[in-house]
Amino acid sequence: MTNLVSDGAAFRPSTSCAQQHFPGVRSENAPWLRAEMLAMLDHWFDWRKHRFDETVDATTPIQAGVGHERLSERLAALQEALTEETPTFTPRYVAHMKSDLSLPAILGWFAAMLHNPNNTSREASRVGSLIEAEAIAHLARMLGYDPSVAQGHFTSGGTVANFEAVWRARYRLDHWLAMALFLSEERGELMEPFAAAHMGWDRFRALWREHGLTEPMLKQASAMASNPIDVQRRISKAAGFDYLGPVLIAPGNRHYSWNKAVNLFGLGHEALWSVRLDAHGRMDLGDFERLVLRAREQNRPVLMAVGVTGTTELSAVDPIDGLFDRLDRWQEDHGWHIWRHVDGAYGGFFSAMLDDDQPSVVAADVEAALRALPRADSITIDPHKLGYIPYACGAFLTSDAQAYAVSAFDAPYLHRPELGAGKWASTLEGSRSAAGAAATWLTAETLGLGPDGLGAVLAGTIQARRALEAAVTSAIPEVRFLPADANIACFTLAGRGEPLSVSNDRTDAVFAFFQRSPAFAVSRTVLGKDCAALKAAHLASYGGVDDSQELLVIRLVVMSPYWCDAEVSSNMAAQFIDELTKALNAVNAATPEVCPP
Ligand SMILES: *Cc1c(COP(=O)(O)O)cnc(C)c1O
Repeated sequence: MTNLVSDGAAFRPSTSCAQQHFPGVRSENAPWLRAEMLAMLDHWFDWRKHRFDETVDATTPIQAGVGHERLSERLAALQEALTEETPTFTPRYVAHMKSDLSLPAILGWFAAMLHNPNNTSREASRVGSLIEAEAIAHLARMLGYDPSVAQGHFTSGGTVANFEAVWRARYRLDHWLAMALFLSEERGELMEPFAAAHMGWDRFRALWREHGLTEPMLKQASAMASNPIDVQRRISKAAGFDYLGPVLIAPGNRHYSWNKAVNLFGLGHEALWSVRLDAHGRMDLGDFERLVLRAREQNRPVLMAVGVTGTTELSAVDPIDGLFDRLDRWQEDHGWHIWRHVDGAYGGFFSAMLDDDQPSVVAADVEAALRALPRADSITIDPHKLGYIPYACGAFLTSDAQAYAVSAFDAPYLHRPELGAGKWASTLEGSRSAAGAAATWLTAETLGLGPDGLGAVLAGTIQARRALEAAVTSAIPEVRFLPADANIACFTLAGRGEPLSVSNDRTDAVFAFFQRSPAFAVSRTVLGKDCAALKAAHLASYGGVDDSQELLVIRLVVMSPYWCDAEVSSNMAAQFIDELTKALNAVNAATPEVCPP
């Protein structure tokens, strides 16, 4: 693509990324940021003053500042109120997927916001739309897609990006099922819902040509273009059994947005099939295979297979390479084309660490999973998480225009000229801000989305998480960490051979202590039945007794860029150990029989 805004220069940061590209633990970059902000406002004022030759004079000239007393006063009140907001910029905040904003994100966001483009169409965003296209190309390149053919757009977050994927997968499945239903009803061919729903575009097009089909012919057999209840009934009749509709297969570590997705797209919760997790908290491929074969047996199409890179709870990375290998094999052996989606809302940015010349800081199997991302039909990634961009900024990408299409029977892979220039018809959301896209764009153009830029920051957070675990375990042996693939650490507080119910209570009490103290903000999560293997391995590591359904853990999201600095990181680790020791002492004083720190 031709760069209209980007200068195409490859930027190589020289000094510490965190120092250079973030405000600083103590706002060290404040003078520079203030100057840039003022210059930005001046640039905007000048543009407004000189954009048109003729001035429109107000009858009563506006006097600067007059009548603004109340605004000043209420603005001050608003800012004061906001000082009570959770201070997530500090390295002491390790509770959730939120941290300080980067400098390019702050500046890019403000710059676009002042002009307020609406990326719903080219008309409403002459420049905003181009910035969005370039930012998507930057993300595509980072993820391993070919940026010249990948498509995508910014969303309000990962939830909507996941919905965008389901929307497209459903259209594709509907096209292929409509073809089979039409051929069954009109030409007496066999109706086999599972095989039909995964026929692939080559077969679809071959049948289209062979039978001389037209768009109206297929529309009357389409659940999306006509009546879904009628079509469902006709599929049952044609197939000769009660057709129960498609299923969506996603791992037990999936985000809650997948539960919302099946609800929203009318599938019902029964249709969300959960893949069991292994002892590492990753998708168990054997169980995935079992579920696909079960769907085949029940003749229910697989709407999509979802893998997660960077789970919300543990930052676990599913074996995406192995998942896609299995799907490849079925595609070759049986012609089953099953939609592949990667939910990289949290961990999609770990791709920035991949370096062709060196192994990355993550384990080899995690690296192999990240390298398989470009084999996905669609990917969700949240710049407002590990991109250090302000809310609300998610992104949805597809491998090519065909996967991006949301309708049209005759040429589903082509843009439809009647819809005009603009994305409004192919995005679930209508009006869309360009601010997140501009923030992402400026980050990519300065910090960079490669191993020397954002990748170095994220690698630093993973190393800091490891160093923290090592320091804490050697100081307090009863702290038991769960396996982690990236920068989230989860731990329990358990004595050797102790029942899980006892350690759950202690972990919970320690969490309560942290909540009352201002030293660190941490979170708590409960791992349920999908994590049985993970729980068993955890208990086995210290001879714990399994007497509870649930495993309660304290969770630390070590994503603050300041943890990349070795001094900050070791200082934080020492303070964390102090705080944890205090918490354990307090808890032990209340319940004397439990383990000493
Ligand atoms: C956060 C998250 C989501 C949802 O993203 P939002 O931006 O909060 O809507 C989806 N999937 C995963 C894996 C996530 O971590």
